[in-house]
This record gives sequence, structure tokens and C-alpha cells, in this order.
Amino acid sequence: MKSWAQRERALETLAKEVGYVKKPHGGRLRVALAFPNTYWVGMSNLGFQTVYRLFNDEDDIVCERFFLPPKTELAELSAAKAPLLTLESQTPVGDFDVVAFSVSFEWDYVNVLTLLRLAGIPARAEQRTAHDPLIVVGGAVTFVNPEPLAPFADVIAAGEGEVLIPGLRRAFAAATDRTDLLRRFALERGFYVPSFYEPHYVVGDIGTGAAAGTISGYTVKTGVEAPLPVRKAALKTADAADPPATGIFTPDTEFGSRFLIEVVRGCANLCRFCWAGYNYLPVRAFPADRILELAAAARLHSSRVGLVSIALCDHPEIERILARLLEMGYAISPASLRLDDLTESIVRVLHESGERTITIAPETGSDRLRRVINKTVTNDEILDRADLIFANGIENLKLYYMIGLPTETDEDLVAIRDLTLQIRDRMLKHGRPKGQIGRIVGSVNPLIPKPGTAYQWLPMEEPSIVERKIKRLRSLMADIDNVYFNIKSERHSYYQALLSLGDRRVAPAIEAAERNGQNWRAAVAEAGIDGDFYIFRDRSGDAMLPWDIIDGGMKATFFHSEFEKGLREEWTLPPKRAQENAKLLPVIS
Ligand code: SF4
Repeated sequence: MKSWAQRERALETLAKEVGYVKKPHGGRLRVALAFPNTYWVGMSNLGFQTVYRLFNDEDDIVCERFFLPPKTELAELSAAKAPLLTLESQTPVGDFDVVAFSVSFEWDYVNVLTLLRLAGIPARAEQRTAHDPLIVVGGAVTFVNPEPLAPFADVIAAGEGEVLIPGLRRAFAAATDRTDLLRRFALERGFYVPSFYEPHYVVGDIGTGAAAGTISGYTVKTGVEAPLPVRKAALKTADAADPPATGIFTPDTEFGSRFLIEVVRGCANLCRFCWAGYNYLPVRAFPADRILELAAAARLHSSRVGLVSIALCDHPEIERILARLLEMGYAISPASLRLDDLTESIVRVLHESGERTITIAPETGSDRLRRVINKTVTNDEILDRADLIFANGIENLKLYYMIGLPTETDEDLVAIRDLTLQIRDRMLKHGRPKGQIGRIVGSVNPLIPKPGTAYQWLPMEEPSIVERKIKRLRSLMADIDNVYFNIKSERHSYYQALLSLGDRRVAPAIEAAERNGQNWRAAVAEAGIDGDFYIFRDRSGDAMLPWDIIDGGMKATFFHSEFEKGLREEWTLPPKRAQENAKLLPVIS
């Protein structure tokens, strides 16, 4: 694909958009912002849209976007060796001062390398010179465990864009050259310069309990001033912050021209497996008046609003917000709802605004196992909510379950079936008289113990056991009318877990996967990596975990105590959660 064709394609894309920013480059810091997946996926991502807005809100910065081209174009671009261009001004990506990646999913790591290759930028930081753009990697995934991407990034931005972008500006404004720039980044909160740190590994079992090959620690290289660990940067409060919201409307996204807005950040439920819950603490509500102001302005372009929050109803003014949005004529879609959020008034609002399906996450079928994982609802409450949902006219329910949880037995699998059947009974009871029977769709995922959670030391369950459980669950759920189960296979989770739990030594596998068209089995073999070491090893004896290089604000002692409480089947109950969070989680100090 030649440059003129890329230009034409960019102009066609821009012609369908409302709200993109085009600024002259002269005298400004030029940032090329990438979402390492297609335009369709990237433009559906509120985090990506927000970083674009935050950059362009600064008068002395110009930010333009680029994405992974669709498959056919990608092959043509590779063959033509034409430089990859940004959308707004169709400038070669390699000409920018900064190339920033917003990475949300482990699967996109490979695409980071593809985009660098297409842009003609060396993949590894050590191969780049002062003539190359500075490669900054940020986004949700990287502040949980950035290490597999460390060799590719000049700088890793750990935390929230609202706080990180001013730091980036300061570093650029004061720097005299590239070396000085990196030093300045290292002194800004939330910025991690991987090349300044040396990981050390345990050689043989030295009697400490730490296994050979595990990380014994990091050191800062001689002559460099850099913090160890690097503290995540996050907003202390959202009281005066602009809520992240769709800034560019285009029909070419997963959500069409839906207006997305973040209402409240974080969730205080402290489910022991949930990285999002722990990593976005403390809970911060965006100002209701500003949410409504932005929604009113966006009404010109959109008639459906998507409320993006993991705990929507933790916003103290949620009822007023929903009522006003309805008055504005919006149809309302919540991204997810916690079970305890589902009050009658909320379900009614959703029904009135045209929702036919609600998604809830019982996670498991038994109260016992829910106490283990600190999902603080019971089956009785779930069934009450199911009644409420179907009684108020919602037809379909999506259910999220997990398997491979600590202490799980066959009884817990049977409990998933039993709970689903009881929910189905509720659906039939309310649907039959109206002649309108919906469906229940269950989605089941094996647990991947995540960095920055109470399960971060846990090995993933052995594949043979998970496969057996999947088979058992499939047979339990077979042939039930109006119930459909989608059970994710073990192999898919394996490589995702490797990228999630790995350290810098996993980077060659990402490079190999980029070269071989993402044949991960071959890539891991070529890189000489023992995937099982990262995935099936109990990490509780490790001196340091790869992601400990970033201090996310949570204490290891707290995670340990949560894990132990789980084994005792004890909840950390939500009622006191706001106060407890403030005490326990010195996230932002
Ligand atoms: S309720 Fe949902 S978002 Fe909140 S901690 Fe639990 S799993 Fe995470």
C-alpha cells in the first residue's frame, strides 16, 4: 500500500468522524498515539480517547492517532515498505517526538511490535538512537505488569493519564538531550525507565525458598538516580476532574456512535481475584454536574449513552444522573453492574431506556466459594435480583462465572448448574405469562491469577484439571432450553497468562510471535522460554515478583492476609469498605 493510498484512507476515516483535533505541528511537542489494535477496537476504548483529549488539551502538544491497519492493508504496507502515517495530518509516525502506546490487553503486545516495524522504528529500546521517537508505553495492562514489554519501551507510564501527562510535559520542557530526558522522566511520579534497572535472578536454590530463575531483586544502574520501586501515579480525587468521555464520534466502533462516559472510577468490593478492583482504588466519583453537562453537549451526536464504570452505583448521585440522562432522551447502557447495584429504580431506568439484557457476575455457584473469593453476595440475593430483573421486563441475562478457583470442588461446578437453573426458573416464571421467554448466556473463564491481586502468588490450575472441569461443566449445562454456555478453553488462557505473569525474559517470545504470525507455541519454543515456570509455579517463596518494580499502592501483607482469609472462607465485608480502603490502601499518598 503506497503512501497516497494510506492518505486517501485516512481522509475517508476523518470524513466520518466528529471531534478529532488538527493542530499545526510548528513549535509543539508532537505525539503519535497508538492503540495497538484496529481502528474499530481502539476507537471503542474510552481510555484511548481520553489520553488523546488530555494530550490535545495542552496547547504546546499536538497528538495524532494511528492504529493497526486491517489485515489486507497490513500485508500491503509491509510489502511496500511505505512508512506508517498518522490519521490527522498523514505524517510518518517515525517523524514524531513521542510515540505513545495505550495498551489495554495482553494480546496486543505483539501489535506494539508490528506497529513499530511498520513505522520503521527499531523494536528494542537499546537499538534506538536520539533520532528515533521516544517510545512511551502506558495503558491499563502496563501498570499492572509492564515487565514483558520493558525491553521495547524507553519509558513506561504507570498510572492514570490525568496525572502522567503533566509529568511528561515537564520532562520534555526541561530536557537538554535524550539522556537528560530519560533521567528527568525517572524522577517524575509514575514513569519507569526500564533501561535504568537491572533485574537479578536466583542462581540455584540458595536456601531461601526462592526457586532458581526467579527474580532476587532489581538494582538501579550506577550513575543513575531513579526510584525503586516506581510509584504509580493516580488522581487523588476526581472531584474537580473532567470525566473521561467520548471526544470523537464515529460510526466505525464497537459501540457505534454511543456516547461513553466514566461516572465513577474504581470499585471497593475487593474481590480477591480482581486486578481492576485493586488497581483503581480508591473509589472516585466524577462530578455529576460535569457528567450531565458533557452528556447534554454530546446529545447532538448520540442518542445512546454508555456508562463506563466497574461500580456504577458507587456514585453518590447515580439516581439523579440516570434520571437526567433519561430526560435528555438518552437510551442508557451500563458497561457492567454489580449485583448489589441492581435496585428496582435502576432496573426500571434500564428497561425504560430500551435495555433487554443485563449482565451480572455471580462468579461461582456456591456461597462457600463466593466467600473464598470475597464476592460478597449470596445465592439468595442473586435469585432476588434475578426476580427483580425479569419482573421489570428485562428478557435476557448474561452470567459470568469462573473456574479454577482456590478450594473449588466438583460440588462447586454442580452449584453453577443449580444456580443457573434457579435463575432460569425466575426467567420462565416472569416470561411465560407475557409469551416472551428470553435466554440466559453463561460465560465461563478459567482463573488467571493476576498481578496486583490476593492471588498473585498462586499457580494457575493444571491444564488437565481445568480441561476435566470444562468437560464436566459442558455436560452439566448441555441441552437446557434457553440456556447457552460459552466455556473458554485452557490453551487460550495459557499464553495470555504468560504475558500477564511474565518478566523481561518473555520479551523474545513476543518478538518471535510477531515474526511468525502469532503461533505462540512455536514462538515460546523459539525463544527458549519455559512457559510453565511462569504459569504453574507457586510464587509464594519468591523474593520479588516481576511487577513489584511498580508500587501500585497495595501492600503485600494485605494481599497475604486476604488470601488467608479466603482459605478460611471469610469475607472482607463491604459495609465498612470506604473507611477500610482509606486505612488499608495507601494508594495515593
Ligand atoms: S465487584 Fe467486580 S469490579 Fe468490584 S472488585 Fe469485584 S469483580 Fe472487581
